[in-house]
Amino acid sequence: MSGARPFPRKTVAAVIVVGVIGLCAARRASFRNEGFAESPKPCGGPGGHGGPGGRGGPGFGSGGRMGFHTLRLESSQQVNDNTKRLRFQLPDPASNAGLCLASFILTFHKPQDAWFPVIRPYTPINNFDEPGYIELLVKKYPNGRASGYLHSLQPGDTLKIRGPMPGYRWKTNEFEHVNLIAGGAGITPMYQLIQGMLNNPEDKSKIKLIFGVNTDKDLIMKKELDALEQKFSDRLKIVYTVSDPVKGSPFIKGRITKELLEKELLGPKDSKATKIFLCGPPAMEVSIFGSKGWTSSKKGVLEELGYAADRIHKL
Ligand SMILES: Cc1cc2nc3c(=O)[nH]c(=O)nc-3n(C[C@H](O)[C@H](O)[C@H](O)COP(=O)(O)OP(=O)(O)OC[C@H]3O[C@@H](n4cnc5c(N)ncnc54)[C@H](O)[C@@H]3O)c2cc1C
Repeated sequence: MSGARPFPRKTVAAVIVVGVIGLCAARRASFRNEGFAESPKPCGGPGGHGGPGGRGGPGFGSGGRMGFHTLRLESSQQVNDNTKRLRFQLPDPASNAGLCLASFILTFHKPQDAWFPVIRPYTPINNFDEPGYIELLVKKYPNGRASGYLHSLQPGDTLKIRGPMPGYRWKTNEFEHVNLIAGGAGITPMYQLIQGMLNNPEDKSKIKLIFGVNTDKDLIMKKELDALEQKFSDRLKIVYTVSDPVKGSPFIKGRITKELLEKELLGPKDSKATKIFLCGPPAMEVSIFGSKGWTSSKKGVLEELGYAADRIHKL
């Protein structure tokens, strides 16, 4: 037997966990092209809505700095059998959250039996111009650690968050034709973008939302989306598709297919004025965007339709 003492199991486990967390963060940073090594910049300030005249705010009342905040839950509303709409008060009721297009926040909580906190991104869906609160729409997954915790919160409970975190750097009128493809809870970043574009009087882009869900009741935010489509009928068109619709459902039946995209997507394929944003469950993203692995790659439907990779952005 050699004299070398084996590392204690706990140390080895800690090193592995920290390594895995580091790899995941690096993967997401490269995916988002925004280098987590440098300190992320706050969303607040000019251009908060993605361009001149933007209305980014001071950032949770903290002088424009992204940071950690503790927010109190004001209300929790069940939207369907698996989704809740959670409204959190900002510390200063007169401040807005400093959110920008397209931004998200990170939620933190530490389960009793866990060594590390559970950290997850969520996309606020509130109107950026209304001060005093942020709203999250959270789908609960079976055994979902963060979504289960968020669903368990009661009005008056608090939640630790970090944000606002800048995501895709939106620029007003960068694209004439904006296509948004959403699956399930992937509607939240799309809803944020739609609201931000339509509420910005300088923005002239035309928007097509293609929203695919499993069943009719999964069409969350439909009332709000329909109201926006009606109000901005010259700028926003929405297509709903339901893979397992109820009898008599008025929506297109099926998943988001190549044929549907070919028929519905706005703008010339080869133009820099056309952009497609995609957000949905992993299987849907792979089918539409494709995947590139070490050993095998899969062509996505958009590539088959002739869209170059730089016309597409996964939110
Ligand atoms: C930028 C960004 C913004 C996001 N915004 C929102 C938002 O506004 N609202 C929202 O509800 N979610 C949003 N998400 C997803 C969210 O961050 C969590 O990943 C999700 O809530 C699941 O976390 P969990 O801890 O509950 O599940 P986990 O404990 O991580 O997983 C539990 C189980 O659920 C399954 N699961 C987890 N995520 C998915 C998925 N997307 N599709 C299918 N199965 C899944 C896992 O495979 C596992 O079996 C966003 C993600 C990103 C990257």
